[in-house]
Amino acid sequence: MNVREFQSELIRYAHSIGIDKIGFARATPFPDLKQRLLIQQQLNYASGFEEPDIEKRTEPLLLLDGVQTIISIAIAYPSRMKGAPQSKKRERRGIFARASWGMDYHTVLREKLAQLEAFILVHIPDAKLKSMVDTGELSDRAVAERAGIGWSAKNCSIITPEFGSYVYLGEMLTTIPFEPSIPMEDECGDCRLCLDVCPTGALIEGGQLNAQRCIAFITQTKTLVPLEYRAKIGNRIYGCDTCQTVCPKNKGKHSDHQQAFTPDPDLVKPLLLPLLEHTNRTFKETYGHMSGAWRGKNPIQRNAIIALVHFKEREAIPKIISILHQDPRPVMRGTAAWALGELFSDEANLALKQQLENEQEQAVLLEIQAALTKGEK
Ligand code: SF4
Ligand code: SF4
Repeated sequence: MNVREFQSELIRYAHSIGIDKIGFARATPFPDLKQRLLIQQQLNYASGFEEPDIEKRTEPLLLLDGVQTIISIAIAYPSRMKGAPQSKKRERRGIFARASWGMDYHTVLREKLAQLEAFILVHIPDAKLKSMVDTGELSDRAVAERAGIGWSAKNCSIITPEFGSYVYLGEMLTTIPFEPSIPMEDECGDCRLCLDVCPTGALIEGGQLNAQRCIAFITQTKTLVPLEYRAKIGNRIYGCDTCQTVCPKNKGKHSDHQQAFTPDPDLVKPLLLPLLEHTNRTFKETYGHMSGAWRGKNPIQRNAIIALVHFKEREAIPKIISILHQDPRPVMRGTAAWALGELFSDEANLALKQQLENEQEQAVLLEIQAALTKGEK
């Protein structure tokens, strides 16, 4: 079988194991991406979660000797859930972004790529292969764009004609000279809806993202959320989907054929107050299989307090007071202090004054003082 014939076999095999799209990109350098990443670095737009070495991110030869082709794969995920529980008074709920619904996609895509690798090696035993998903050196999106999976959109996602932007991406470097796919035309045109509705102005004209301003990134940090973003987070406890849900190209796109990503409504839209009760162990037992759990319980619990304020849930004041007084984590005490200033009651005011006497942590003291000042107004 020649390479051309094997490529057709591989595409058939990929679809048979549940890979929704597969494309092939030449493994030449990514000069445009390099330029973008350099600007991102200069302007401090990066999230800090990505591979720091820009050369490695843009030069496939540094990652695999003799690399010729990068295979890009896409697997679709759902945009809607059945039986979403209502968020109501005393039962307020947060929301995990769609990319965290169901099983952690890193696990699912890595398994698919491992199956593809095994299939390739049966036919071409001396092929050299290297697969990655999200946390690898390469940019999943730059590879997918070149491999014709979709176009690189103004909301910084890859939009496919079949599944919209609701796709997970992964890739495999190979030493096999596959025929490259044809990249897609950009279909954003004059539209700029995502740029206009982003709550924090994180999207920059020309397909750049200032991750420091992006709620998806902010919900994953472990520090106090800067004040200007707290009111904008809403009930998002992990990630943000706004620039995807508003996109006209995503209208009507919903894929529920990948069972692994079927969301459990009570988990992806959890009650906020019980979330605050989790220990590391119970959090891991409950949410550990989801990608949104990768930073542990702390950012999620901090975001849960912010979401309770969003709902003006004054019933939560006693729980938030107990966090202010007893939680060993300064970020939780600081967020609780801010929340009590926002929700405000005599009880909250008294609790803040008590903690002012006992608090040792400077950042928390500043939050308490700010909350008390707000209460006096
Ligand atoms: Fe803006 Fe949310 Fe999109 Fe980030 S994920 S760019 S905050 S709309
Ligand atoms: Fe492109 Fe408009 Fe979708 Fe933004 S909202 S990604 S500009 S089509």
